[in-house]
Amino acid sequence: MSIIIQKFGGTSVADSEKILAAARRAIRAQSDGHQVVMVVSAMGKYTDRLIELARQITDDPPDREMDMLLSTGEQMSVALMAMAIHSLGRGAISLTGSQIGIITDSIHTKARIRSISTERVRQALDEGNIVIAAGFQGIDESANITTLGRGGSDTTAVALAAVLGAEACEIYTDVDGVYTTDPRVVPAARRVERISYDEMLELATAGAGVMHGRSIEFAKKFGVPIHVRSSSSDSPGTMIVREPETPDKAVCGVAMVKNEARVTVLGIPDRPGAAMSVFFRVAARNIALDMIVQNEAADGRTDLSFTVFSENLPGTLRAVEEAVKELGAEGYSCDENVSKISVVGLGMATRPGVAGMMFRTLAEKGINIDLITTSVIKISVVVAREFAQEALRAVHDTFELHVPPPVGDDRAALPVPAPIKPSGAELVARLQRMEKLIIEDIQLDRSQARVTFLGLPDSSGLAARTFDELAEAGVVVDMIVPSMGRGKRVDISLTVPREQLPQTLKAATELTAALGCPPPEHNPSVAKLSVLGVGMRSHAGVVARIFQSLADAGTNVEMISTSEVCVNVVVDGRDGQKALTALKTEFADAML
Ligand code: ASP
Ligand code: MG
Repeated sequence: MSIIIQKFGGTSVADSEKILAAARRAIRAQSDGHQVVMVVSAMGKYTDRLIELARQITDDPPDREMDMLLSTGEQMSVALMAMAIHSLGRGAISLTGSQIGIITDSIHTKARIRSISTERVRQALDEGNIVIAAGFQGIDESANITTLGRGGSDTTAVALAAVLGAEACEIYTDVDGVYTTDPRVVPAARRVERISYDEMLELATAGAGVMHGRSIEFAKKFGVPIHVRSSSSDSPGTMIVREPETPDKAVCGVAMVKNEARVTVLGIPDRPGAAMSVFFRVAARNIALDMIVQNEAADGRTDLSFTVFSENLPGTLRAVEEAVKELGAEGYSCDENVSKISVVGLGMATRPGVAGMMFRTLAEKGINIDLITTSVIKISVVVAREFAQEALRAVHDTFELHVPPPVGDDRAALPVPAPIKPSGAELVARLQRMEKLIIEDIQLDRSQARVTFLGLPDSSGLAARTFDELAEAGVVVDMIVPSMGRGKRVDISLTVPREQLPQTLKAATELTAALGCPPPEHNPSVAKLSVLGVGMRSHAGVVARIFQSLADAGTNVEMISTSEVCVNVVVDGRDGQKALTALKTEFADAML
């Protein structure tokens, strides 16, 4: 019999009415002939209330006790849900994370799932019960209660779907699907029929609050189709699957992280491993760096910029101060009032000009861009927070995200692929590496050249002009890595196909001459290494490991860009093979 997972978020079980409504939905699915596992969050804002209670006692509660406390929220709602189902005349059993056998590591408050046993759940299902699983929690090897991080019930749901080989994983929430952007900020935002895992993953970490990022990593890894739906209506919702909504659009959504801070470490001596020491020091404080931009060295020194969530700024600055001293760097600067705007879409991988369009849009609004990072399917910019909402609206408009895909696009109606059913040894292998870092591939691309603009005036519209001129010259730009130069100047490095180097240099030289800047610098032969995988950013330290292994191999990193699913580094062309070998060795244990 097929198994369906139905996950209900806090707002969908906020009171007894809603609990009964959710129970009826599960019963309906059971009557349709499915075995049903419900995964339930704590009621309403209950988790926040528990956190507040703890804070009233102490500013610094032990993480172990926080988990003990927070896990009670879910324990309460699963019990009530089981009672609701009993009252409606069906069999049900509630189970905590530990009763199911969700084993995690021991990192309290952000534990990762190591394995899940399925016997007890299967047995309860076979006896005709609806199983009600507490979301967000597990136990470690010493039977301490752990939690998976805020919003972690999504991850419980998808993980259960994966190990049970469920036919569907339905996420019931207070919105009726995934939108092209936050409809509260951009009323024209549109619900999408379907979105791909990669796009959702990038959007989730770019600020779209719909789903716990790690749950999407799971879904992608195990091919679990996710159906995001409203708990208060029967509207169709959004499918999160491998395929994007339409092949015709370059961009599927835009997102904003409102409260970020930008930190620039200035004048780092340009030697292998120097930047890494900054990464290690920040990672040691359990702070995830977001956008990372390192620029080409000038005068033997390089600048490194990155963003962090605002709440992590104090810890970050302490780490940076230490690193500056240790490295003999010139200093650092920071801007506390920035926001990050990202555009995401699988389609941009094959369509040039998306970056140019985004920059042009912001330029037309007079919004200055502070930092840019690009990955194959995402472009993120940092702007002053006061302009962030306007920027989001403008970009949403430029890419016509309010417009649904053309009717008659039969791809939008493609049947959802059934999940791949694991069996025997494969399942055991999966369970063992449930939430490990997985590197899918490490690729070496030796077909590109690097061009660096030095000291461009930092004025709004310049990035747009640069990319317009290059587009006019027919240049397909791949990576773009700008950095805040010293003073009011920016350097921009980009990679282009080597055969386009002459026309790139011609256009670039004309542009810099017109602007009165130094002529562009270039390296006719660079090697781009792409480390592709799942959890590249949620596993702190991947970037640090990349830098470390390249430094150990004596290879200097010329450019870097990071995203959820890929880290790209550019090194000198002569170092390409050596760098590839170093990375393959470093990540051998994580390769698929
Ligand atoms: N109750 C937890 C939280 O509020 C987990 C969840 O809702 O997914 O973060
Ligand atoms: Mg939630």
